[in-house]
Amino acid sequence: MRILFVAAECAPFAKVGGLADVVPSLARALRDMGVETAVFIPRYRGVEGETGLERCGEMRIRLAGEERPCVIRRGGLPRGEVPVYFLDYPPYFDRPGIYGEGGEEYPDSPERFALLSRAALELPAAVGFEPDVFHVHDWHAALVPVYARFGGGAPPKVLLTIHNLAYQGTYPRERAEGLGLPPRALDAITHRGKVNFLYGGIVFADLVNTVSPTYAREIQDDGEGLEEVLRERAGRGELLGILNGVDYEVWNPETDPHIWAHYSADDPAGKAVNKERLQRELGLSPDPDAPLVGMISRLVDQKGFDLVMAAFERMMALGIQFVLLGTGDPVYERFFREAAGRYPGRAAALITFSEEWAHRIEAAADIFLMPSKFEPCGLNQMYSLRYGTVPVVRATGGLRDTVREYDPTTDAGNGFVFRDYVPEAMLAALKRAVDLYRGDRGAWRRLMVRGMREDHSWEASAREYLRLYRRLAGAPG
Ligand code: ADP
Repeated sequence: MRILFVAAECAPFAKVGGLADVVPSLARALRDMGVETAVFIPRYRGVEGETGLERCGEMRIRLAGEERPCVIRRGGLPRGEVPVYFLDYPPYFDRPGIYGEGGEEYPDSPERFALLSRAALELPAAVGFEPDVFHVHDWHAALVPVYARFGGGAPPKVLLTIHNLAYQGTYPRERAEGLGLPPRALDAITHRGKVNFLYGGIVFADLVNTVSPTYAREIQDDGEGLEEVLRERAGRGELLGILNGVDYEVWNPETDPHIWAHYSADDPAGKAVNKERLQRELGLSPDPDAPLVGMISRLVDQKGFDLVMAAFERMMALGIQFVLLGTGDPVYERFFREAAGRYPGRAAALITFSEEWAHRIEAAADIFLMPSKFEPCGLNQMYSLRYGTVPVVRATGGLRDTVREYDPTTDAGNGFVFRDYVPEAMLAALKRAVDLYRGDRGAWRRLMVRGMREDHSWEASAREYLRLYRRLAGAPG
């Protein structure tokens, strides 16, 4: 079985959010199961690969009225044999940002990602990697099945994974006229008056999945305007939910190169060292008993920051320390900068993107807060479990599928969960966590260790993906 991933992000080359972690870690898990997997992404500015990138093919694609001469370069994922093919077209991708700059999407986004989809279909001929299935991710690659269907010849099999339905790639019809799709194709991917890349992918992919079972159900009722077509595909058994996994080679407190002290479920003592160091580095009071609440997130509405803003003073009144790492909406950036100023020694805000600090906060915090409005899967709650950082989450999407409320009577559960999207419900859940942390250290430690021992690795999920590929390729399941 040969699979080609097509995506806009893949760590360590290009990362904005969870997509960048999922692409390489799923690819590696599949490779470990004997599936020949390769990844195709744009070559953004600064991407050189560990040992340089070897030129391995070229293609010319006519788009937006011009011939676009593209070079394909080959590199690989760190630790292993997964090849990564890079689409090198500097006019589109040699830029400071991945999707845009200063909060503004690049105006030629439709052309940039149409080029990625077209090039993906030409990749087999250019480099000799013939996939049984094109596994395309999110709206950036969602035109692959559309071009395939309208391109003449027998279309290849395509699986579309939706990592976040909030991003669809919607443009006025006239913006899509130079993309090389015939008018009937443009008609077919027009939804509510606009050309919609993701809608096109959902209609024309052979199978569609999202990144958790709960999200796959939720979006059939509340699907950002796409519920109807999602329900239709679900009704035919063609919309599935497969939970993301964690790459424990990257997220493991026993070996993590970014953290100050290593620790494990058997010997969690190092966690306190990380907390003490983080407090010192960020100017928080050196108090080992203050419950340290962490957040690491893109600062966007989806993540529940309106709840955090509304409840912030009441959260701090619980006697917590607070640390946030994130960038995004300037309204939230300003709020957290100011909040840190208002609570010297108790709140810190790192308004930046830092892999290193993400790992350090996971290792140092006692509690991880994720009050998302919606959450297709969410990775940080699973990282938190492994790092003994008890998650406090809203019961939505993948958060609901991975975090279970602590039950004091049976000493079960792995975190704290609230349902209603209101500040009071979030506060109540946070208070339950803080009360247990303060009131019963033995129970807290058992809760922590229970989470640390859970297995959210890719193995089971990768097997589910393999089943889908086999179903598509007509191979015995
Ligand atoms: P989403 O994909 O919606 O952003 P996920 O929880 O699935 O949410 O994945 C987010 C990923 O991005 C995690 O690996 C998280 O650690 C990382 N991340 C988000 N913001 C930052 C940041 N400012 N610095 C470092 N990592 C970040």
